[in-house]
Amino acid sequence: MSFVISAPPVPTVPVTTGGEFPVHRIYCVGRNYAEHAREMGHSDREPPFFFMKPADAVLPVARGQTGAMVYPALTSNLHHEVELVVAIGRGGRDIAVADAPGHVWGYAVGLDMTRRDLQGEMKKQGRPWCIGKAFEQSAPIGPLHPVAGTGWLERGGITLAVNGELRQRGDLSELIWNVAEVIAELSRAWELQPGDLIYTGTPAGVGAVVRGDVMEAAIDGLGTLRVAVA
Ligand code: MN
Repeated sequence: MSFVISAPPVPTVPVTTGGEFPVHRIYCVGRNYAEHAREMGHSDREPPFFFMKPADAVLPVARGQTGAMVYPALTSNLHHEVELVVAIGRGGRDIAVADAPGHVWGYAVGLDMTRRDLQGEMKKQGRPWCIGKAFEQSAPIGPLHPVAGTGWLERGGITLAVNGELRQRGDLSELIWNVAEVIAELSRAWELQPGDLIYTGTPAGVGAVVRGDVMEAAIDGLGTLRVAVA
């Protein structure tokens, strides 16, 4: 095939055991921890809902490194959301909850960075969230841990500190819709593909960062993702 412009590179995420995981799509789950749903002004359990980021929104950070995120344009309220990221290794449609674990390739710590002021404005007007959620470097991610090494993750602390001060704390067991349920529900709407990443939602305590801040996102068993805001 001859491309008429140079083909863009495939976005990838490093793997703890070596090699790179190529990213196909990034799905995100909204309001998936009860306390965070409440802090965003919602009280009832509702069906999971989804939004997407472009694959090249990943900001991959190798183990032991500190990622550099450039403070994005148009916002004065850039929020952190620490999330468990699930990497899909086997695709499918209408995946049953019981079969979902067989589709998971691995896990990582991720940040769903959000231009909260722009997202809020779009919400108010009933418009799409893209400008608030789907911008460059909006999906920092640590190295992927193959599920073969971690086992199926159902519990474990998930935290985020800014400049050493704890801002978010939760436990994976508090997910309103667990990973298997999220995979099942997503696969009813889209055909999941190898290379898909799913950001599974954030616990309470979201807040703003400014230039110069250093975020440390951690999940038990998956290490720490460090990102500096430049
Ligand atoms: Mn989120």
